[in-house]
Amino acid sequence: MTEEEELFDELVRDFAALPADPPIKRDICLRCCRPVSVCWCFYLPDEPVVTRSTVIILQHPSEEKRCLRTAPILLAALARGKCHIVHGRKFTTSKSALLENVLTCRHSLLLFPGPDAVDVADVPRNCTYNLILLDGTWAQARSIYHTNPSLQRLRQVKLCHAGVSEYVIRTQPDDNCLSTVESAALALAYLENDPSIRDTLLRPLQALCNFQLQHGAVEHQSKEFLFQNGKIKRKKKK
Ligand SMILES: [Zn+2]
Repeated sequence: MTEEEELFDELVRDFAALPADPPIKRDICLRCCRPVSVCWCFYLPDEPVVTRSTVIILQHPSEEKRCLRTAPILLAALARGKCHIVHGRKFTTSKSALLENVLTCRHSLLLFPGPDAVDVADVPRNCTYNLILLDGTWAQARSIYHTNPSLQRLRQVKLCHAGVSEYVIRTQPDDNCLSTVESAALALAYLENDPSIRDTLLRPLQALCNFQLQHGAVEHQSKEFLFQNGKIKRKKKK
């Protein structure tokens, strides 16, 4: 970390330590791009998480504009160069050197459900992987997958023991739908054989959810919230 980054970190922490009432209005944290009063940077690990594998997030253009996206948590929490976000709808080898490498590497894994997807828990752990995630709504992710033959050629993995999403703010279409940071955190914990990675990467997400709840987010619209509070029963997996 450079001196400048350290200073900035310190500044962010100072802001985060300020009492929530009265909130500092409309000051935006430059790191997480959230209002300073709901900044989650304080919940990032002291040292970035060092992994062998690299996460590559292929992000639908409209996801970039959402304020409650979770990919920035990965970018901030993982060690430098271990997380890349590529925006667009079409992803081809000619687009960038990164994509050329990732789309042709036999150690690239696309985290996306499908008939050929294997449980990420069954993938051999003795290897350095490129873990590719599609970021957007479920429909956008599916559309990216179906319009990119280069993605369809990749080895596909899925999360079979994902549990329930902790991301209660943005309504999830069903119980198995996880946010980007949750998916990456769980998959990395398996690939790196280190369960603590999951907890470390999810801490800022939990903070983000708590901030939103405190600031009046409509959490009761979320199926997960209803489930967690015993208001609805979880569907049984088929
Ligand atoms: Zn922040």
